[in-house]
Amino acid sequence: MIGAGVMNMKNIKARIFFLVFLAALILSLGSTIGAATEADNSELMAEVFSAAEASLGGIEPEETLIITDIGSPAGSYAFLDDFYSEFYDRDLLYTQNLLVVQNARNSPLWFAFFDKCSGNCTYIEVSYENESEISYQVTENIDFDKLSKTPKSKAAWGEKVNSTIFNGREFAILTICNGWATGKLDYELMQCLELHNHFCPGVSSGFVLANWMEENYPLEENVSYTVFSCPSWCKEDVFVKRWDTTPGKGGIWVSSLTDDEKEALGGSPAGIFVVTDKNAGTMKAVVLGFNFDIVNAECGAKADDPAWISKYLADLWLMDKENWDTEELVSVISVTDIDEATLNEMKQAGNNPYVVLGLLDSEENVNP
Ligand SMILES: [Zn+2]
Repeated sequence: MIGAGVMNMKNIKARIFFLVFLAALILSLGSTIGAATEADNSELMAEVFSAAEASLGGIEPEETLIITDIGSPAGSYAFLDDFYSEFYDRDLLYTQNLLVVQNARNSPLWFAFFDKCSGNCTYIEVSYENESEISYQVTENIDFDKLSKTPKSKAAWGEKVNSTIFNGREFAILTICNGWATGKLDYELMQCLELHNHFCPGVSSGFVLANWMEENYPLEENVSYTVFSCPSWCKEDVFVKRWDTTPGKGGIWVSSLTDDEKEALGGSPAGIFVVTDKNAGTMKAVVLGFNFDIVNAECGAKADDPAWISKYLADLWLMDKENWDTEELVSVISVTDIDEATLNEMKQAGNNPYVVLGLLDSEENVNP
């Protein structure tokens, strides 16, 4: 209709007037909508903090951990300034009271406020597409000692996990909060959890392996690691975070092994860490193993424990640096001097890096 109307206007002045009027109308409508959205946004973070304060009876710097994926869900960066304004208004500290985890763009924007004195955790999700509001809120006691105390308490939490009381984040929130509450969760491991977004024995093993490498092949100036995470498990995210070995920059190559291949490599291979030392002009392929049987045997988990118990107990055991020297926990499968050509061969699709190093027979791979 409007298009037809414009087409029929013969008078150029009238046409220009119409276009200017239309542009002004669009601009004024846009700014009105923008202002309305802004006003709603500024309230939302205050609402979230108030809701958590009301359900926990306060947010104290000595007792609170906040976990959130703010910044990851699409458009949620718009709340970052308000979030930090609320956060610092309560005398909370970035390294003491906060873990901002990475999440996918299509994840909801969520917050978990944990009070370590009571063990209570208030989980909040917000929606902000059309109207900004708290869309889900629940408070649960997640004190690990209480939940794992009796068969009845275990079953009760198991039911809540099944009903996804924290929308599928029960394990992540339970383990991170309880680990943090011990006061012994290394902050540099927490930084890895930002990327991994949960706390599991796999990521803990990566932290142990990373520390082993740094101790034995110090990451000095002009030294770099190239990682062949093969077989892969949650450990990889530690290397990416700690050494900046991103796939995009050619720092990490990830692939799997068959059970037969693992067996041929001693049963528990973890990966190949190539150390390039430009000072010494050397390149070494350090092949390491990591033995989870030791962790499972030592951590106190029982065979019939549900996964959330056995995994958290394994986390606790791996958090204790005194356990890192346990014999055979980290094992050296081999150390080989290699050159650039060998490194490039290891990177090629279709090549098994262990075969390139001569640790696996290529024939065996084809016909295991
Ligand atoms: Zn994991």
